[in-house]
Amino acid sequence: MTESMRIILLGAPGSGKGTLASRLAREFKLAHIATGDILRRAVEAGSVLGREVEAVMNQGGLVPDTVMVDLIADRLAQPDAARGFILDGFPRTVAQAMALDKLLDRMSLSIDHVFHLNVPEEDLVKRSVGRRVCSECGRNYHLTGAVPRQADRCDECGGELRERDDDGEDTVRRRLKVYQDSTRPLAEYYGACGAFREVDGTPAPDVVYHSVTGWLRGTGRR
Ligand code: AMP
Repeated sequence: MTESMRIILLGAPGSGKGTLASRLAREFKLAHIATGDILRRAVEAGSVLGREVEAVMNQGGLVPDTVMVDLIADRLAQPDAARGFILDGFPRTVAQAMALDKLLDRMSLSIDHVFHLNVPEEDLVKRSVGRRVCSECGRNYHLTGAVPRQADRCDECGGELRERDDDGEDTVRRRLKVYQDSTRPLAEYYGACGAFREVDGTPAPDVVYHSVTGWLRGTGRR
């Protein structure tokens, strides 16, 4: 494995990108760049960016490409990204992917792995509706799946568990439609490059994690 690994995680809302990315980032000491988390923090802080994106996020739409490309350019320029990174939630459109290619080219960097997590649509809805997220450390729980030991409190850090504003069923279905229309084509965009892998995202998080680390260690199997 190279010292500074650069990974893109693709997958629909609820496919398990966040959970997988957090664990990979911890294990391989990579910067976890989750654009949804960055935007939610901006909304919470009431910054100019936050005020600009809040409505579109709550409706399950996509923040404009120009805003996202500027955001990612700033984030990749930060020192922690130099030791490698995982992009979780970016790119989400072909235009963003093309802009990322240009940006990496200018930095003389390339992407080592692109993983696409596949999960059937009805499972995606069930996973998102009922999801609870720790307001402190970002760990995900589920009302019927990964249930916290104490209701509304994170097992790891004791932070308060909250429902995301965009996890209501109608908004989740809208986000899935946006995913099919705008983000799913990225599987074809990256499919042609040797770094691309389809991953079955339906098993338990531990199984998904081990199938991905198999690829990272060069022992992956289709
Ligand atoms: P996520 O936490 O990745 O599900 O992202 C939550 C929301 O943030 C999305 O539904 C979008 O509104 C917005 N968002 C996050 N990343 C992007 C992106 N790369 N392009 C456009 N909008 C984004």
